[in-house]
Amino acid sequence: MIQMDVLIVGSLAYDSLATPAGSVENELGGSASYGGFSAAFHNNKDFGSGVGIVGVVGQDFNNEHLEWYKSAGLDITGIEVNQGETFRWKGSYHGSMAEAVTHETHLNVFEKFQPKVPQPLKNPEVLMCANLHPSLQSSVISQTNVGRVTMLDSMNLWIEIANEELKGVMKKVDILILNDGEVRMLAKKENLIDAAKDVLEMKNGGILVIKKGENGVIAFHPDGIISIPSFPTSNLVDPTGCGDSFAGSMAHYLSRNSGRVSREELAESLVHATVTASFTIENFGTERIRKLSVQEYESRLLEYRSITKTA
Ligand code: AMP
Repeated sequence: MIQMDVLIVGSLAYDSLATPAGSVENELGGSASYGGFSAAFHNNKDFGSGVGIVGVVGQDFNNEHLEWYKSAGLDITGIEVNQGETFRWKGSYHGSMAEAVTHETHLNVFEKFQPKVPQPLKNPEVLMCANLHPSLQSSVISQTNVGRVTMLDSMNLWIEIANEELKGVMKKVDILILNDGEVRMLAKKENLIDAAKDVLEMKNGGILVIKKGENGVIAFHPDGIISIPSFPTSNLVDPTGCGDSFAGSMAHYLSRNSGRVSREELAESLVHATVTASFTIENFGTERIRKLSVQEYESRLLEYRSITKTA
């Protein structure tokens, strides 16, 4: 049995994006791309045993982009190339760029996608279900035998159009990661703490991580709440994929241990996730996270630790 550190299922996309810093068309994106590059960066840095992706692209997918995944060290045997066009998403950000406005979502090859997890990828330590239709996330959960932790991300679209499926798959995972707007929307409550309690009840307990953009992250662990700030920066270009690279980093961190995830371990995974996501925002698309050096990362991690040290 081959044991992978992390398996990620999610979207592989061509994004068209506009932010106050500029715009790009058909940029490689998707939740599994950002999550994958992030987890692979950490996996390479820590000499881990590998990160795999499960997803689908169309025949229009650029071979060079498959090479990008491979040269990052990602196992892409779980990526299918199907007839039709690659998933496309068009979004924009305004003001403080706290939230994406979706203009167009073309599921294309995702509409008929039936994920098939290749045998060698079926036993990951951590399974990260990145943003995707909840029924596809559920299908991958049922095909895998996860060693330690299953994580789930989602978005407002699925809360609106696949609410029951989302509530079903939430119950099957150890860690649910959402942003503050999604938690309020799911619970139909304005107060974030009340809303978080309701969401935790919906998922039968476990861990809930709430991303608050520039306001950092608050996490609910059975042993207590964790609250940490974001990395302070004015270099904001494109927030697309921040959430996914955050989750990819957490997934890798949690694959390094065994047993129950303690509150302390969760807090440390959130530090790495926060620092990793702070790079993604500095450029359009996946370039910043793909080309991140270990030295740059370690130096920002030290800076973050010094900024947040209050005692
Ligand atoms: P994030 O900014 O981390 O929430 O993720 C942005 C990525 O999510 C983009 O690269 C999009 O391609 C992808 N995305 C947007 N809408 C969807 C959707 N409905 N399903 C799956 N992925 C999506």
